[in-house]
Amino acid sequence: MYNAKAYAAASDTSPLARTTIARRDPTEHDVQIEILFCGICHSDLHTVRNEWKEFMPTVYPCVPGHEIVGRVTKVGSAVTRFKPGDIGAVGCLVDSDGTCDHCQAGLEQFCPNGTYTYNSPDKHLEGVTYGGYSESIVVDERFVLRVPSNLDLAAVAPLLCAGITTYSPLRRAGVTKGKKVGVVGLGGLGHMGVKLADALGAHVVVFSTSPDKKEDALRLGADEVVISRNADEMAKHAGSFDFILDTVSAEHDINAYLNLLARDGKLTLVGAPPQPLRVAAFALIMGNRSLSGSSIGGIPETQEMLNFCGEHNITADVEVIPIQKVNEAYERLLKSDVKYRFSIDMASLKSDS
Ligand SMILES: [Zn+2]
Ligand SMILES: [Zn+2]
Repeated sequence: MYNAKAYAAASDTSPLARTTIARRDPTEHDVQIEILFCGICHSDLHTVRNEWKEFMPTVYPCVPGHEIVGRVTKVGSAVTRFKPGDIGAVGCLVDSDGTCDHCQAGLEQFCPNGTYTYNSPDKHLEGVTYGGYSESIVVDERFVLRVPSNLDLAAVAPLLCAGITTYSPLRRAGVTKGKKVGVVGLGGLGHMGVKLADALGAHVVVFSTSPDKKEDALRLGADEVVISRNADEMAKHAGSFDFILDTVSAEHDINAYLNLLARDGKLTLVGAPPQPLRVAAFALIMGNRSLSGSSIGGIPETQEMLNFCGEHNITADVEVIPIQKVNEAYERLLKSDVKYRFSIDMASLKSDS
């Protein structure tokens, strides 16, 4: 074991503060990574504040962070895909059994024996896993991704959660040129959804509650922006969408969007409102429409997404912050006051004593 600097929350009401955590020495299959950047995902905040306690209670101290990009510093004797000096990335998963149906299908996110990057029982050390708000991490090489060399690393970090969370449902829905795709909400997830759907060749329509996001949505790749509060504007698009990606995690009227789907159209949820949604059965029945959900993506698809982003020069729009501003960033995140993802420059942790 060795010690690593990190930022952790000591309880559901404590701010994140500087601490020291134990990391395992790399085993033969492990890659040790010096973390360069870590994105701030809304899940980090939910977990730090124990807001998902019903299905995933938080164990403290909690070191969040699952949008990790760094430099490989050490590899185990059996590691073949990485060597010291390489750039590697880690997303929401750090381990799985590799044998169940989900793992065999490359869908490790559904493995019953999977290990999340933070707040999951640690198979090597006591306690739970610690995430990317740290100077280093040790991960089985099967869960370390390659990063295309043309992309800016600070802006790559959010691809590891926000990127794959939006890429996976777009691909599964068969989004290509000629398809009409809606993106509901323009935050961390939504802005990635717009960029990716645009790169896949779709006609992209952004739904937003605030007219002031229009210019930005068009810059990100949207072809049209609809102000969702405007019933006339919404009505013009009735029955026309092949696919709608709903990224909103606050309560909203899902039926207003289901009614915009074409025959056999599909709406996929990637945001998680705290209360159950009210779905009008006829909004689905009329037109054979479907409502579904989607959770990140497996390791093969995450690599595919990174390669796609490399080919199309896609990264997240980030505001880079030092780790000392992380608590302030959480407050701003709650107000959606970020375009569109915070990325922590981990060099700031080195000088934090
Ligand atoms: Zn996330
Ligand atoms: Zn499995």
